[in-house]
Amino acid sequence: IRIKNAEFITSAVKQNQYPESVHPEVAFVGRSNVGKSTIINALTNRRKLAKVSNTPGRTRLVNFFLINGQAMLVDLPGYGYAKISKSDKAAWGKIIEDYIVNSPNLKRFVLLVDSRHKPTQDDIAMMDYLRYYEKDVVVIGTKLDKLKRNDIKKSEKLIRETLQMEKEEPLYLYSSTSKENLQQVIDLVFKDLLP
Ligand code: GDP
Repeated sequence: IRIKNAEFITSAVKQNQYPESVHPEVAFVGRSNVGKSTIINALTNRRKLAKVSNTPGRTRLVNFFLINGQAMLVDLPGYGYAKISKSDKAAWGKIIEDYIVNSPNLKRFVLLVDSRHKPTQDDIAMMDYLRYYEKDVVVIGTKLDKLKRNDIKKSEKLIRETLQMEKEEPLYLYSSTSKENLQQVIDLVFKDLLP
């Protein structure tokens, strides 16, 4: 699969702000600072399509990007930021739930975890939550370039075990810095959504 173009459509916090769209959607979720903005920029080959944040946890928007005029990439707000207040957490939950419940075109989730660390309690909770909605879930371990080659298999095993993934559930480790496994990630993320 090739990404030929990517266009920012809109940002939304609630349903009446979502774009009217008939395109299948793939939604990206992950802990703040996991590299979500960076992977979106790498997938779309656009340096500044999604903002790479210096202040993690500040973005509270659902961002919609149209890919090749045919599929919608949806950037959901990150979670797990240490300094977040209880009311912020509730607001985050509502934004996520509103989107998931009100998106008939939603086909797949991409859950990003940091491949250097064991998935956090928040990651586990997110995975469980996504499974509940019975969509495809694709897991990507980010920042692969930070791993020693010897630790790659160990990291994959730890992610699979911690998130209780079945053998057939897909996982790739990936680096936005070296672009290792970029094409595999594109093929997995947009499978059946783009020709
Ligand atoms: P977000 O909060 O999930 O959107 O995370 P960002 O995309 O803003 O990235 C957070 C930090 O991780 C930034 O300093 C990025 O430059 C860095 N980062 C993202 N992806 C990679 C990667 O593949 N390798 C390395 N080494 N750093 C990365």
